[in-house]
Amino acid sequence: MSQSFRRQLVYTIKDRCRVCYTCLRECPVKAIKIINGQAEVINDRCIGCGNCVKVCSQGAKISLRSVDEVFQLLHSGEQIAACIAPSFPAEFTDITDYKILVGMIRKLGFTYVNEVAFGADVVAEEYEKRIKSSGYIGDISSDCPAVTYFIRHYHPELVSLLAPIASPMVAMTRILHKKHGNHLKVVFIGPCFAKKAESGEVDEVITYRELREMFYIRNIQPQEVEPSGFDPPYSGRGAIFPVTRGLYQTANYREDIPEEKVVIADGRINFKEAVKEFEEGFIRNKHLELLCCEGCIMGPGTSPGGRKYARTAAIGEYVREKLNNLDQDGWQADMAEYRNIDLSQNFSPEDRRFTIPDEDTILEVLETMGKFSAKDHLNCGACGYDSCVEHAIAIVKGLAETEMCLPYTIEKLHDSIENLNISNDKLASAKQALKQSEKLAHMGQLSAGIAHELNNPLGVITMYSNILMDEAKEEDPVREDLQIIVEQAARCKKIVSGLLNFARKNQVNYTETDVVKFTEHSINSIIKPDNISINFTHNIDEPVTKLDIEQMMQVLTNLEKNAVEAMPNGGELKIRVEGDQDEIVFKITDTGTGIPKENMDKLFTPFFTTKEIGKGTGLGLPLIYGIVKMHKGKIQVTSNADLRKGATGTTFKITIPRVRNTEQ
Ligand code: ADP
Ligand code: MG
Repeated sequence: MSQSFRRQLVYTIKDRCRVCYTCLRECPVKAIKIINGQAEVINDRCIGCGNCVKVCSQGAKISLRSVDEVFQLLHSGEQIAACIAPSFPAEFTDITDYKILVGMIRKLGFTYVNEVAFGADVVAEEYEKRIKSSGYIGDISSDCPAVTYFIRHYHPELVSLLAPIASPMVAMTRILHKKHGNHLKVVFIGPCFAKKAESGEVDEVITYRELREMFYIRNIQPQEVEPSGFDPPYSGRGAIFPVTRGLYQTANYREDIPEEKVVIADGRINFKEAVKEFEEGFIRNKHLELLCCEGCIMGPGTSPGGRKYARTAAIGEYVREKLNNLDQDGWQADMAEYRNIDLSQNFSPEDRRFTIPDEDTILEVLETMGKFSAKDHLNCGACGYDSCVEHAIAIVKGLAETEMCLPYTIEKLHDSIENLNISNDKLASAKQALKQSEKLAHMGQLSAGIAHELNNPLGVITMYSNILMDEAKEEDPVREDLQIIVEQAARCKKIVSGLLNFARKNQVNYTETDVVKFTEHSINSIIKPDNISINFTHNIDEPVTKLDIEQMMQVLTNLEKNAVEAMPNGGELKIRVEGDQDEIVFKITDTGTGIPKENMDKLFTPFFTTKEIGKGTGLGLPLIYGIVKMHKGKIQVTSNADLRKGATGTTFKITIPRVRNTEQ
């Protein structure tokens, strides 16, 4: 008998899922979809192994709960048998005597309490017959429902090689129906989730953990129940079934199945590997004994934190005692009565394999995760998939997201941090520039005010001193004094006009000019000592642009003069003009003394000078600043005055945007 896997066996509690991908990593069939940062089980692809529930540290995966249905059944007045799986001694180690456990189950209201292990005895004999029959070509055990779902969904070609034998649970159900009649309801109690979807012949399936919950709800305490034995038929060696090699050992109690006829594999990785080798023809004429868990004793329906070897030992002890006390004749009689019941089981293929997307599509997805060649495929498994290609396929199928790739996400994060740092730096320098321009704006206002006030009286002084000069006789001694007044007044006027420039009170008078020729001209118009070499270069496709040539000439000559003055012992003055369709860049570099760090933000302050009185006015750079601002340009200064940090020198970079005709 076969049936579709319809019941949703595992659910996700969304608030708890922290998307660590552990469930996906542990899922042997990748039946987990990561969507919007949530890991959801895809029921169609699930084989019910319960690994995801076992490994989720957040308790975000929960299994189908059947406790309420069983309570309902117990209230129905029907005859109900509890069939407990042979792994129970491994689970209930806290209950000293199995008879107490049986008493507790009876107290819940079950009519009978049976051991599935007798079903295992009957099934094991069937396997033994099959393996020893002539023409035996090898097959796969079908007692683990997760394994049968795995074969049916993912290796449908092997379905015909699944042993067509009912599981011990189903065999026991049929035996009990034969013994008590078909009206009997059967509730299976075991370590397994997949059993909940295995067979329609069993009325309900609960796990050991659910059984504990039922005891808790009904407040059934071990010390308060009447110890009681199982109901017949009693089991023999079938009780060893739940540990690895169980069915083989159960079948082989007379030790006449040679070991080399059986290949045993358990656990989520091993069983898959064994199926693969079997399918590829490396294992021939052998019986493949497969368990999805590491023995049923470690099933997902057992209490968490169980120790495998302690549990194996508990089963061993139980079986030894059982076999010591076994009524051999009674057991033989039961076997004689039930070994001929129908033990057949059919399995049908239900192919759930993906069609693999074409290579180009996979490559495209890989590229979105920054994987351009095989060396970028780290196959680190952090995403939950075994390889980058598998991850990419899952993305194409809508089951995964690119963000699951840890190396890619880390790289993206690094980029973001870098971008943030860059923005931060930009912000800091913008802040600095703002502070500077605010300061200069205030000074500009003040200077403009003073300059304006001084301009007129200075004009009057110049005019009257010139008149007096004209009127004075050649030999008049006053004439010399008047000459000084005229000169100093002219100097004051120069300073005042510098201040006015700084305060941006002037207009820009745009004229079309060839900046290369213009710059050359600026170099020619300054005085260059012999110990300074000039290096003029340019790289500009369209040198003709619009500038206020008078003002820009002041900018260039002032910068060039400053550079020359910074190289009293000689050096190199480099001037470069670059540009594109948007802007013109002038770079004036010297190998001079450099500007000490502490002077950097004073440079554009009027009257700041380090030169001796009479030589420097400290108005050159403020003037440049005003002119460049009027051209909507910017000034950048880089300088090193510390020999320990390398060659000293300074570069002033002036960037002037090209003006379109409409902007003038
Ligand atoms: P001045 O040249 O009259 O001193 P500036 O405004 O042109 O006034 O320059 C102000 C100060 O900036 C100078 O005194 C000097 O200390 C410094 N400076 C300007 N350009 C350079 C340069 N190329 N190398 C070193 N220091 C410079
Ligand atoms: Mg100067």
